[in-house]
Amino acid sequence: MSQLYRSFNNYLKEIFGTRVYRVPLDAGFTCPNRDGVRAFGGCTFCDDRGSGAPTIKTDLAMKEQLLSGIERIRRRYKAQKFLAYFQAFSNTYAPEAVLQNLYENSLDHPDVVGLMIGTRPDCVADNVLDMIAEFSKRTTVWLELGLQSANNKTLENINRGHSAEEFFDAVKRAKARGLNVATHLIFGLPGDDEEEMMSTVKQVAVCGVDAIKIHQLVVYKGTPMEADLKAGRLPLLDEDVYARLVADSLEILPPEMIVMRLVAEGSQDEVLAPAWSFNKHQTMEKIEAILTERGTRQGSNFARSCRGACAGSSAPEASEYKRSRVSDEAAWQSHAPVS
Ligand code: SF4
Repeated sequence: MSQLYRSFNNYLKEIFGTRVYRVPLDAGFTCPNRDGVRAFGGCTFCDDRGSGAPTIKTDLAMKEQLLSGIERIRRRYKAQKFLAYFQAFSNTYAPEAVLQNLYENSLDHPDVVGLMIGTRPDCVADNVLDMIAEFSKRTTVWLELGLQSANNKTLENINRGHSAEEFFDAVKRAKARGLNVATHLIFGLPGDDEEEMMSTVKQVAVCGVDAIKIHQLVVYKGTPMEADLKAGRLPLLDEDVYARLVADSLEILPPEMIVMRLVAEGSQDEVLAPAWSFNKHQTMEKIEAILTERGTRQGSNFARSCRGACAGSSAPEASEYKRSRVSDEAAWQSHAPVS
């Protein structure tokens, strides 16, 4: 499957010569979409872990989380190199000095080779981006900005608390500082039909982000969406439809964009629906089968589909600013698209 798209694992292997593992962390932040600065209650799909991984030991201090995460992953995969992944809640939601200290401390381990910082587009002030850009001069840094949908009506439906315009502005400011930027999209959000999902992908394809995560809408226990699901007000995507949408998306993404995730997976302890979320491998096989049958891969339809995608949207064209070094990696040249 990985030869059908540019996977993050392969990208990291090209850079570091070995597989690099993310260590998910919960540094104790909250989120402006939960504490009332933007909204109360959070995004309707977000659970009480703030979208952090279930493996995070939240009872431990940050340093201990990092060390125990490294040892767990090292034991399981014989891993040698790691990224400190600030995943749960909004990881730029603190004064600059606090953030700087936090990121600095996470790098104080010989096998940690970089940072991943997950946050919201309304939570990256210029001074914070400047500070993160300083880190990027001496280590690998990824800034993850959630979007979920570029349809503002859908963002309202899920109580997202920011607009698509704020996302594209944040991308522009991060890219102006040379940062590697990744984004998240969710397919199947209430209010988004297939046309709107593809419109989001097209806008993201040309807005200058370097990497993308896509996953299906998953309803977790204890989230605001649980009530909608139980009341029959939340239609969810069928697995085959989702696989086709992801295949369509890969075809229209730029060939150099890094793909960090294509399917979400959860356990029966935490996930209510859809049931096919319990078997990520099966969904990945369906995506692969569609691309193989079509004879396409990531980027096959990029030029045709995405030219002019920004017309009428707030997404900047990538050519407005210099793309980061990620897009310029010579290593990727040997993986040029087949069509
Ligand atoms: S922005 Fe992130 S942490 Fe905040 S409510 Fe939404 S998903 Fe949860």
